[in-house]
Amino acid sequence: MDHGAGKPVDPRVLEAMTPYFTEYYGNPASFHGEGFDALKAVNQARQQVASLIGAEAGEIVFTSSATEANNLGIGGATRRYTKKGNRIVLSAIEHISSLNVGKELYREGFEIKYAPVDAEGVVELGELESLVNDKTVLVSVMAANGEIGTIQPFEEAAEIAHRSDALFHTDATAAAGQIGLETKSVDFMTLSSNDLYGPKGVGALYVKKGLRVKPQILGGGQERGIRSGSENVPGIVGMGAAAGLASAEMDAEGKRLTILRDKLIKGVTESIKESYLNGHPTLRLPNNANIRFSYIEGEALILSLDQLGIKVSSGSACTAKTLEPSHVLRAMGLKHEEAHGSLVYTLGKVNNEEHIEYVIQQMPEVVGRLRAMSPLTPEELR
Ligand code: PMP
Repeated sequence: MDHGAGKPVDPRVLEAMTPYFTEYYGNPASFHGEGFDALKAVNQARQQVASLIGAEAGEIVFTSSATEANNLGIGGATRRYTKKGNRIVLSAIEHISSLNVGKELYREGFEIKYAPVDAEGVVELGELESLVNDKTVLVSVMAANGEIGTIQPFEEAAEIAHRSDALFHTDATAAAGQIGLETKSVDFMTLSSNDLYGPKGVGALYVKKGLRVKPQILGGGQERGIRSGSENVPGIVGMGAAAGLASAEMDAEGKRLTILRDKLIKGVTESIKESYLNGHPTLRLPNNANIRFSYIEGEALILSLDQLGIKVSSGSACTAKTLEPSHVLRAMGLKHEEAHGSLVYTLGKVNNEEHIEYVIQQMPEVVGRLRAMSPLTPEELR
């Protein structure tokens, strides 16, 4: 139940990719049959990824990861359009790969503002609007947050950006393949292959037709000069196949996961006193349950559950080892110790009702044991 950190490659995706390792290993840039085969496969994948988000194939730039796509979509766009001004606005709950680009832009002389979120983790549009001025180059608000599951009003955020002629980027890494997405209202969109059950090491940035970004990797001019380096053909084919499957199966899988998710949330919060859902109850990704347990540490919970075969997380995998409380939960106004006592369950294709029942059955004992040892637990809960 830690699919936010990593998903298995769908066997059908692996099947589509396999010939591109050993049989069709040409370089899409080559002027011969092998090269043309590879180019054809990359272009088909480009179309499959574009179709998932209502874009055109020519608007998709393949990258090595969502992290790289965020670097390109936020850093590359801001550095390309500096004439507009020197302010950028990010939501306070963006992924670390976006926040760190923001920090770097700040060091380069840009002014950076953070749009706050409410107690349920939804970006406050009024506050966002007050931060966007006519010197704002770019606004970035994610489509959904993978840690608390909250779906963001990113289309409204895009309208706010555009009213001031600012560009708008959305990080759709966690949302894509789970909820329907449209690129009409945005200028840049980040996607990740693994979140769609494709291989790791591939991502994509949607770049609206007519816009440019400053390349962050220089070289032979692949990907329309935006992202150099010989294409990762098998990986790209895998991302395309995964996007094709997501387009076809997302609705049914979303319904199935929503039922499992709600059963998990209800089962855990009703059987354990002083446990609460983090994030929005309904504006929520189908696969995400983020629950906080008073008086205990998330890390201790994770290790105890791991021994029972239950794999969960305390936040984003990218920051899990820092032991810092989640910046997302802190931005929602949770106290340090509340953020520390939170667990993230991210469901996926392999999870079924039996798994949910097992977790609901095991959690009270584990939480009870840890609370009994915690100096913070009030007497009546021991
Ligand atoms: N954006 C979001 C919203 C994420 O959840 C993640 C992590 N899965 C990333 C970006 C970065 O993804 P990656 O580490 O695969 O580059």
